[in-house]
Amino acid sequence: CASADAPDAWLGIAPPPHHPRPHSNHKGSHGDVLVLGGQGLNVNGAGMTGAAVLAARAALHGGAGRVYLVPLDAAGTSSVGWDTETPELMVRTTAHLTSEWLEETTVVCGCGGGDAVAPWLQQVIAHSQALVLDADALNHVAASPTLQQALRERSQARGVAATVITPHPLEAARLLGTSTHDVQSDRLAAAQRLAQELGLICVLKGSGTVVAMPDQVPVINPTGNARLATAGTGDVLAGWLGARLAAQEATPVQTTCHAVYQHGRVADDWSVQRNGTLTASGLVRHLGRH
Ligand code: AMP
Ligand code: MG
Repeated sequence: CASADAPDAWLGIAPPPHHPRPHSNHKGSHGDVLVLGGQGLNVNGAGMTGAAVLAARAALHGGAGRVYLVPLDAAGTSSVGWDTETPELMVRTTAHLTSEWLEETTVVCGCGGGDAVAPWLQQVIAHSQALVLDADALNHVAASPTLQQALRERSQARGVAATVITPHPLEAARLLGTSTHDVQSDRLAAAQRLAQELGLICVLKGSGTVVAMPDQVPVINPTGNARLATAGTGDVLAGWLGARLAAQEATPVQTTCHAVYQHGRVADDWSVQRNGTLTASGLVRHLGRH
């Protein structure tokens, strides 16, 4: 494995081209991200109120032209005016989730939201332009052969690169119907199996995040450290990745590898340059500089 200073040598793929923004660009030129998640109760009966906000803030720092947040409450409805500290976020209700809008949007789904996310999954799988599924969305997919089939159909219709899942080891174990121990004992195989069986890009998170795609050799990200082992950093990755995919500056697999690399790199730089704790919010602020 090459040094952490040489991501492109390590990836064995060309770096994403540097894209200075043409002077004539407008906010519609840099991709729209829609974050669907929020307060709904998850499999443990807990609400993850901040997860969708972290993902949406990370998407803003990732350079998306427009970031929309559709916050779901425990009743499955959505309220407006949610994140007053981030006025750049455009908060919408579920009434806006039309197939036409989804077709033009990169959707980040499952950062919180719990059961309230479930009724929307078929629609986002069928219609979103690009899709990142995390956490609560993955738990619903794990429990639903119908949603798994919908993902395979999406793969047939739009290609494997249109969808990225970002499970941590427990979420991966649920998807595979196995134990966390089994996933961790062969992380490359677990990620590859998920990518192959669902027809998508799989980011198996944790120490040595694996990026896998059907019919390709999986890669292990060399950056990141245990400073990231704190609540919310996975939500930040999902939002950041969504924005990078929405920008369409490289292929989705290149973009995914680099987004994972950059996310870990912030934690590595933090270890070298600072002594304090890295919070998910601190991670968001520093990601934009990488
Ligand atoms: P989640 O489990 O969804 O909260 O996501 C946690 C994030 O932190 C993921 O991006 C993991 O890859 C990362 N992470 C957690 N623990 C470690 C670790 N020990 N080394 C490197 N990255 C880690
Ligand atoms: Mg998570």
